Amino acid sequence: MSMTDKISIAIDGPSAAGKSTIARRIAQKYHYIYIDTGAMYRCVAYYMLAHQIDLQDEKAVSAKLDQLDIRLTNDGKVFLNGEEVTSVIREDAISLAASTVSAYPEVRAFLVEMQQSMSQGGGVVLDGRDIGTVVLPKAELKIYQIASPEARAMRRYQENMRRQLPADFQTILKEIEQRDYQDTHRATSPLRKAEDARVLDTSEMSIEEVVDRVSGWVDEILERGKHQ
Ligand code: C5P
Repeated sequence: MSMTDKISIAIDGPSAAGKSTIARRIAQKYHYIYIDTGAMYRCVAYYMLAHQIDLQDEKAVSAKLDQLDIRLTNDGKVFLNGEEVTSVIREDAISLAASTVSAYPEVRAFLVEMQQSMSQGGGVVLDGRDIGTVVLPKAELKIYQIASPEARAMRRYQENMRRQLPADFQTILKEIEQRDYQDTHRATSPLRKAEDARVLDTSEMSIEEVVDRVSGWVDEILERGKHQ
């Protein structure tokens, strides 16, 4: 690695652990590109629901993949076949639907290939479930970001309140636990920690503290690279 090299950063972990907040902040700080892989699974789910494709019908879902043109902009917008879907893909129904279609091997292969080609050359921060294990197994920095289900539900609850979205704590907690179960029990690329990932439990940490901790790791790796 030379001094000018930019590293690749993989952030995995369960839903609502604050991965995207941290990934976005780190990308801004180092002038890296942030790739929200969850948004891509959400686009697949959104497309299938909008076209009345039965989500349980794996063949029908897989057959439609070549109809999708997904674009992520650097300022956080998501476009699906030219239509901006940044907010609609955040709805709860889409979260669960994304978790369902993400279990299908063809959906994963399609998106993983896209994510790998977007990451060529480094200088990227990706967050998801399988970044350190499947998408970028050679990432210089891998983080497994976790928080207790209650801490995650509370953050989502507060975020929903702020955005004037439906917010019932027990419902949110149940949905988080259901997605955890689906994401860790699927046969293809279940959520798991890469062996060489650093565990970051953010239950008791503020966003600033998490950003500082991750920046420390990035700086350490960049510094080490200078001397190689
Ligand atoms: O991260 P986010 O909550 O937006 O992801 C939505 C769903 O997409 C997750 O519950 C998970 O099932 C799936 N996903 C995945 N692999 C990724 C990113 C997201 O399976 N790399």
